[in-house]
Parts: sequence; C-alpha cells; structure tokens
Amino acid sequence: MTSPTAAAAEPYLSGGERAAAHGAHYIEETVRVYLMRDLAGTDTWVIDPTCFGDALASEYDEPQNSECRCETPDECADIVDRMDKVGLPDGEELMFMLAAALGYTLTKTDS
Ligand SMILES: [Zn+2]
Repeated sequence: MTSPTAAAAEPYLSGGERAAAHGAHYIEETVRVYLMRDLAGTDTWVIDPTCFGDALASEYDEPQNSECRCETPDECADIVDRMDKVGLPDGEELMFMLAAALGYTLTKTDS
C-alpha cells in the first residue's frame, strides 16, 4: 500500500534561480507607477492618469542582469542590449501584464 504524498511546497526561487532552472538569462527591469490622492478627497490612492499613454518610467538606466546565473556574459550582455530596445509598458499595458500573470480575465466597461 502506498500512502499519498502531500504536494511539496514550492521553495522560494529568486528570479535568477528561476531563469537558470529554465536555461534562460535573467534580465530585469522596473516601471514606476505614480499614485495620487483621489481628487474627491477621500484619502485613498488612485492611479495618476499620467500613467496612461506613454511608457512608464524605469528605476534603472538600462535592463539589469546582475542576478543572472549564466556563464555566458557576452551573450547575456547582448540580450541586455536587445532588451534595452524593447519599450516599457504604459499603465494599460501593465494592467494586461499583471492580469495575465495573475490569471485574471479583463472586461472593459463603457462607464
Ligand atoms: Zn545571463
């Protein structure tokens, strides 16, 4: 008789470790999302409308690969250069990225 095996909890993996497990390079970026106090004065945060229409600002000067675990630094640097040419999302594009990562389906209303 075999006993059921409880699903092992996934160990925490850093981005670099996750990429290495996939045989990929770990290239990271950031975007800054501005919030503002709501204009109705209810002391809540809302998205600053300037987040829509143009690419969000990065915290970095260029994509970073300092946490990549690869052993091919030239190839890694080439990918950083390529990713530096890939535009960052605006707020709406970021919303779709977040929804996809979290498994949400988005529906736009006419309101
Ligand atoms: Zn790399």
